[in-house]
Amino acid sequence: MSGRTHTGACPERTCVGCRERAARTELLRTVAIKDACVPDPRGTLPGRGAYVHPVSVCLDQAVRRRAFPRALRVPGPLDVMALRRYVEQTEGC
Ligand SMILES: [Zn+2]
Repeated sequence: MSGRTHTGACPERTCVGCRERAARTELLRTVAIKDACVPDPRGTLPGRGAYVHPVSVCLDQAVRRRAFPRALRVPGPLDVMALRRYVEQTEGC
Protein backbone atom coordinates (compact mmCIF):
# COMPACT_ATOMS: atom_id res chain seq x y z
CA MET A 1 0.00 0.00 0.00
CA SER A 2 2.10 2.81 -1.20
CA GLY A 3 0.50 6.19 -1.65
CA ARG A 4 1.70 6.48 -5.20
CA THR A 5 -0.84 6.80 -7.94
CA HIS A 6 -0.35 5.43 -11.38
CA THR A 7 0.22 8.10 -13.96
CA GLY A 8 -1.38 5.87 -16.56
CA ALA A 9 -4.81 6.25 -15.02
CA CYS A 10 -5.92 8.43 -17.89
CA PRO A 11 -5.21 6.53 -21.08
CA GLU A 12 -3.49 8.54 -23.76
CA ARG A 13 -3.52 7.98 -27.47
CA THR A 14 -1.62 9.58 -30.30
CA CYS A 15 -3.52 11.50 -32.94
CA VAL A 16 -2.64 10.08 -36.36
CA GLY A 17 -2.99 13.59 -37.81
CA CYS A 18 -0.88 15.94 -35.70
CA ARG A 19 0.90 13.13 -33.83
CA GLU A 20 0.25 14.77 -30.51
CA ARG A 21 -0.78 12.77 -27.51
CA ALA A 22 -4.15 13.41 -25.99
CA ALA A 23 -6.57 11.82 -23.61
CA ARG A 24 -8.62 9.12 -25.24
CA THR A 25 -11.77 11.11 -24.63
CA GLU A 26 -10.47 14.01 -26.73
CA LEU A 27 -9.82 11.84 -29.74
CA LEU A 28 -12.15 10.16 -32.15
CA ARG A 29 -11.68 6.44 -32.57
CA THR A 30 -11.83 5.23 -36.13
CA VAL A 31 -11.90 1.72 -37.50
CA ALA A 32 -11.54 0.24 -40.96
CA ILE A 33 -14.60 -1.49 -42.37
CA LYS A 34 -13.83 -2.96 -45.76
CA ASP A 35 -12.41 -0.08 -47.81
CA ALA A 36 -13.66 2.69 -45.58
CA CYS A 37 -12.43 4.36 -42.46
CA VAL A 38 -15.42 5.08 -40.28
CA PRO A 39 -15.90 7.02 -37.04
CA ASP A 40 -16.51 5.05 -33.89
CA PRO A 41 -17.41 7.75 -31.37
CA ARG A 42 -18.67 5.26 -28.79
CA GLY A 43 -15.70 2.98 -29.15
CA THR A 44 -17.85 -0.08 -29.62
CA LEU A 45 -16.73 -1.39 -32.99
CA PRO A 46 -14.40 -4.38 -33.02
CA GLY A 47 -10.95 -4.41 -34.48
CA ARG A 48 -7.95 -2.16 -34.44
CA GLY A 49 -8.62 1.53 -33.91
CA ALA A 50 -6.83 4.66 -35.00
CA TYR A 51 -7.28 7.84 -33.04
CA VAL A 52 -7.55 11.32 -34.47
CA HIS A 53 -8.70 14.70 -33.21
CA PRO A 54 -12.23 15.22 -34.56
CA VAL A 55 -11.16 18.25 -36.58
CA SER A 56 -10.59 18.57 -40.32
CA VAL A 57 -7.00 19.81 -39.84
CA CYS A 58 -5.93 16.57 -38.24
CA LEU A 59 -8.06 14.51 -40.60
CA ASP A 60 -6.42 16.15 -43.62
CA GLN A 61 -2.96 15.59 -42.23
CA ALA A 62 -3.73 11.96 -41.53
CA VAL A 63 -5.07 11.45 -45.04
CA ARG A 64 -2.09 13.20 -46.63
CA ARG A 65 0.45 11.02 -44.88
CA ARG A 66 -1.68 7.89 -45.33
CA ALA A 67 -1.73 7.42 -41.59
CA PHE A 68 -5.04 5.56 -41.49
CA PRO A 69 -4.08 2.49 -43.54
CA ARG A 70 -0.82 2.30 -41.62
CA ALA A 71 -2.42 2.67 -38.20
CA LEU A 72 -5.21 0.27 -39.03
CA ARG A 73 -2.88 -2.24 -40.73
CA VAL A 74 -4.74 -2.42 -44.00
CA PRO A 75 -2.94 -2.56 -47.36
CA GLY A 76 -5.01 -0.23 -49.50
CA PRO A 77 -6.16 3.36 -49.32
CA LEU A 78 -9.20 4.02 -47.17
CA ASP A 79 -12.27 6.00 -48.02
CA VAL A 80 -12.61 8.72 -45.40
CA MET A 81 -15.90 10.19 -46.64
CA ALA A 82 -17.87 9.05 -43.59
CA LEU A 83 -15.15 10.29 -41.33
CA ARG A 84 -15.00 13.67 -43.02
CA ARG A 85 -18.74 14.06 -42.77
CA TYR A 86 -18.66 13.19 -39.09
CA VAL A 87 -15.88 15.69 -38.41
CA GLU A 88 -17.65 18.44 -40.31
CA GLN A 89 -20.77 17.82 -38.26
CA THR A 90 -19.01 17.89 -34.92
CA GLU A 91 -17.00 20.96 -35.88
CA GLY A 92 -20.16 22.79 -36.76
CA CYS A 93 -21.55 22.72 -33.24
ZN1 LIG B 1 -4.55 15.94 -33.96
